[in-house]
Amino acid sequence: MTAAYDLAIVGAGPAGTAAALGALHADPGLRVALLDRDDFPRDKACGDGVAPHVLDRLAEVGVTGLLDDRVPVARLRLDRGGRGAERTMARPSYVVPRAILDARLVEAAQAAGAQVLRHRVRDLAIGDGVVLDGAISAPVVVGSDGARSVVRRRLGWAPGTTALALRGYAPVTPGREGAQVIVFGTARQPSYAWSFDRGDGYANVGYGEVLGDGHVPSKTELIGHLESLLPGATRDGGDWRGHHLPLSGLRWRPPAGRVLLVGDAAGLVNPMTGEGIYYAVATGIAAGRAAARALADGRPESAGRRYARDARAHLFPHLRHTAAAGRLSRSAPMLDAGLRASAADQRVFDDLVELGLARGRITPAVVRGLLTSLLEERRPCAS
Ligand SMILES: Cc1cc2nc3c(=O)[nH]c(=O)nc-3n(C[C@H](O)[C@H](O)[C@H](O)COP(=O)(O)OP(=O)(O)OC[C@H]3O[C@@H](n4cnc5c(N)ncnc54)[C@H](O)[C@@H]3O)c2cc1C
Repeated sequence: MTAAYDLAIVGAGPAGTAAALGALHADPGLRVALLDRDDFPRDKACGDGVAPHVLDRLAEVGVTGLLDDRVPVARLRLDRGGRGAERTMARPSYVVPRAILDARLVEAAQAAGAQVLRHRVRDLAIGDGVVLDGAISAPVVVGSDGARSVVRRRLGWAPGTTALALRGYAPVTPGREGAQVIVFGTARQPSYAWSFDRGDGYANVGYGEVLGDGHVPSKTELIGHLESLLPGATRDGGDWRGHHLPLSGLRWRPPAGRVLLVGDAAGLVNPMTGEGIYYAVATGIAAGRAAARALADGRPESAGRRYARDARAHLFPHLRHTAAAGRLSRSAPMLDAGLRASAADQRVFDDLVELGLARGRITPAVVRGLLTSLLEERRPCAS
């Protein structure tokens, strides 16, 4: 006997809950199963930085006021080797422990009508429908099971470039209150350490770097890099947790068919910043809507094609620009030029933040700022 649903969603993080919300907003009558191997609240390795754009997307599916009790963080400091920029962001961000954020999203999905089930999915049988572990069946399935996705593996998808990052919680170091502080590495490239003030006396602190030369840093090494880039950040720190980040690239194209991939399962972390919650929510909603439309038309097998079309239209121009920016930021002189240009011009700063968080592009202001900064650096000093 299998339990039958219209839509089964594997993983109840931001991507999975957004998929449930997208589907149920389009058709509140759908029977949606939202499966996760964990009970909520549960912790998740993350910098906990939530871009305001996440709230914009959630409002489109009827979720409002989710973070009204949190302290917004408006200041962003970017630094490399003691030089950088500190400015107020055009729109403040939030720093929300994932134990809180994800539990609230699960509650919102449940309130919309999703049935939340604790179940670790191990196997998918894909035919005229999809059967999960011989126990749960649905004509459409969304894989939102994160960086090590079982669903992605079953579809034969390989992850592209990955980063590794570790985070902990520690009392906010004096001088870093009320801000998101990012310090780029001077030795390894690209890499950065962060301290994000949660607004309750503690900061989410961490360090991450792109993997590629075969070396996978240990927990001790990651904490060591964090402390050397942000002295004092690890003092009295705890709850250390690390995870891989599957970075997006130029060739992103989700699979067609009745099994859809969203969020980290689809390899959608910004290669410049490591931000992934926005993409998880945006693609989750797009997948949920596409599934609802395909089911309403009686053509569940068309869900993947519809989702791919919508998601690529929404994201592809941005992904091209973040792929280019991610590559450029591997060059230390280019990174320094970006920081100098951000210090010199609020517009460049704002455009780079937008590129790093949600839907931005490499704008003419950014190109002008980078070129001016590079030329000024090369100009010989007047004697
Ligand atoms: C150290 C670190 C710092 C980061 N900092 C930030 C940041 O500050 N801001 C930001 O936007 N992004 C950040 N990211 C990226 C962000 O965490 C992810 O992009 C985001 O969590 C993706 O959401 P998701 O729903 O796709 O996957 P996840 O949040 O990973 O959720 C996947 C869910 O699937 C469940 N699951 C997994 N396997 C199964 C299975 N087989 N069966 C059932 N359930 C399963 C898991 O329990 C989990 O609940 C960071 C990542 C790391 C590692």
